[in-house]
Amino acid sequence: MNIGNKRKSSAIIIGAGIAGPAMAIQLQNLGMNTEIFESRQGHEINQGLFLGITPNGLNVLRDFIDIEKLKEEYTPGKMIFLNAQGKNIGELDTKYQKKKYGAETIQVKRAAISFELRKKVANRGIPLHYGKKLVQLFQNNNGVIARFADGTEKKADFLIACDGTHSVCRKILFPDAPKPVYTRQLSTGAFVKMDDMDQHFGAIHMTFGKKAFFAWAVSNQGDIWWFNNFYRENEPTQEEISSKLQEEMKAYLLKIHCEDPEPIYDIIEKTEEMFAYPVYEIPSLPKWYKGNICLIGDAAHATAPHIGQGASLALEDTVVLAKFIHEQSSLIEAFEKFQQLRQPRVEKLIQTARKVGNNKSIPNPITTFFRDLFLKHFIKMEIKKMDWIYGYTVDWKAPLQLSEIYNN
Ligand SMILES: Cc1cc2nc3c(=O)[nH]c(=O)nc-3n(C[C@H](O)[C@H](O)[C@H](O)COP(=O)(O)OP(=O)(O)OC[C@H]3O[C@@H](n4cnc5c(N)ncnc54)[C@H](O)[C@@H]3O)c2cc1C
Repeated sequence: MNIGNKRKSSAIIIGAGIAGPAMAIQLQNLGMNTEIFESRQGHEINQGLFLGITPNGLNVLRDFIDIEKLKEEYTPGKMIFLNAQGKNIGELDTKYQKKKYGAETIQVKRAAISFELRKKVANRGIPLHYGKKLVQLFQNNNGVIARFADGTEKKADFLIACDGTHSVCRKILFPDAPKPVYTRQLSTGAFVKMDDMDQHFGAIHMTFGKKAFFAWAVSNQGDIWWFNNFYRENEPTQEEISSKLQEEMKAYLLKIHCEDPEPIYDIIEKTEEMFAYPVYEIPSLPKWYKGNICLIGDAAHATAPHIGQGASLALEDTVVLAKFIHEQSSLIEAFEKFQQLRQPRVEKLIQTARKVGNNKSIPNPITTFFRDLFLKHFIKMEIKKMDWIYGYTVDWKAPLQLSEIYNN
C-alpha cells in the first residue's frame, strides 16, 4: 500500500496493553484515523503487578502522559544489592541516569500506566473497543479486514498488532513461526501491607539469598512491592495460578528464604495474594510484518522481565515505527526499515535479560564469594555501559541510523 496520502489513512490497532494505546496516539499525531480493539473487558485490563520503566521508555512515555502523575504511587529504581547475610555488597544509583538521560528508572503498577495511556487515548477521541478478540485477518492491496470473535469486522488501510506474547496476529501471519517457549520460570510478586517500613523507602533491596534471589522495595505509599522467580517444570494455567499454585508458591518461598535476612520471611508470610506471570521467550522471528500488517512490542519480541525492558521496548517501537511510516513512501518500506533497526537492539536485550535471569537463580559458593568481593567495583564500571540501553532516544527531526546499534 502506498501511504502518500497519510492524513486519510486508517489503522486498526490490536491490543490495548502498553504498545497499543501508545501506537494509536503516535499514528493520530501523523493525522491518521486509528481505532483500538482489545480482547479483555474494561475491568480486566487492570491486571498485572508492577513494571520497571527505564529512561528509554520514560522518554517516550513523557510525550503522552504526565510522569509525575504516574509517580503518585511508585518505588524508585535505585538498587541495593545484599548477600545472604544481609550485607550491602553494592549499590546502583539512578542519579547518573537523571543527569545523563534526563529520567530515572521507576517501578509503577502496570495498571497505572495502562490507565494513564487509555485516558490519553480517550481524551484524543481515539475509539477503544473492549471485548473484541481478534480471530481472523484478511488482506489485499486495498487494506486489511480484522474479524473478531463476536462476528463483527473492521476494515482499514493497515493494522498494527500489539497483542502481546501470545499474539493471534503473529499466528495468523506466520503459522509456521516458532511458538513462544515457556522458560520454566514464573515471575512472581505481590503488594503487601506491613507496618513501620517507611524508613526503607528509596531503593529496591536485591537480595542474593542463600538459596534464591528475592527483591523488595517500599513504595511512596508505605507498601511493600516484592518480586522474584518461581521455577516450575510444567506451564501453569491461569486457573492454577489463581488457585492451588498460590499455596504451593507461598510454601516453597517460605522454605527457600527461611534463612535469608529480615524482612524477607515476614514479607512472604504476610502476602495474601501472589501474582505469577509465566515467563516466555519468542524465538527470533524472521519477519515482523506481512503486507499491510506489522507486529510490535511483545507480539514481535517478548523479553524475559529480568532487566525490566518489556514495556520500555514496546514504547520505543511505537516512536520508531511512527517515524518510519512518516518518512517512507510505502508501508512495506516503513515496516522493513522498522524491523532492520529494531531487531538487533531487542535481540541484544533479550540475551542480556537471559544472562541476568541465570545469575539470579544459581547460587554457587565460588561465584558468590567473588560477587560479594567485586560487585561494587563492577557496578561502577557497568553503569556507563548501560548507555546503549537507557540512552536510546529518537530524534524526530534527524534520520535514524540503521547502523547505530552495532556501535554499542
Ligand atoms: C495481564 C498482563 C499482566 C502483565 N503483568 C506484568 C507484570 O506484572 N510485570 C511485567 O514485567 N510485565 C507484565 N506484563 C507484560 C508487559 O505488560 C509487557 O511485556 C509490555 O508492556 C509490552 O507491552 P505490549 O503492549 O507489547 O503487550 P501487552 O502489555 O501484553 O498487551 C497486549 C494486549 O493485547 C491484548 N490481546 C491479546 N490477544 C488479543 C486478541 N486476539 N485480540 C485483541 N486483543 C488481544 C491483551 O489482552 C493485552 O491487553 C503483563 C501483561 C499482561 C497482558
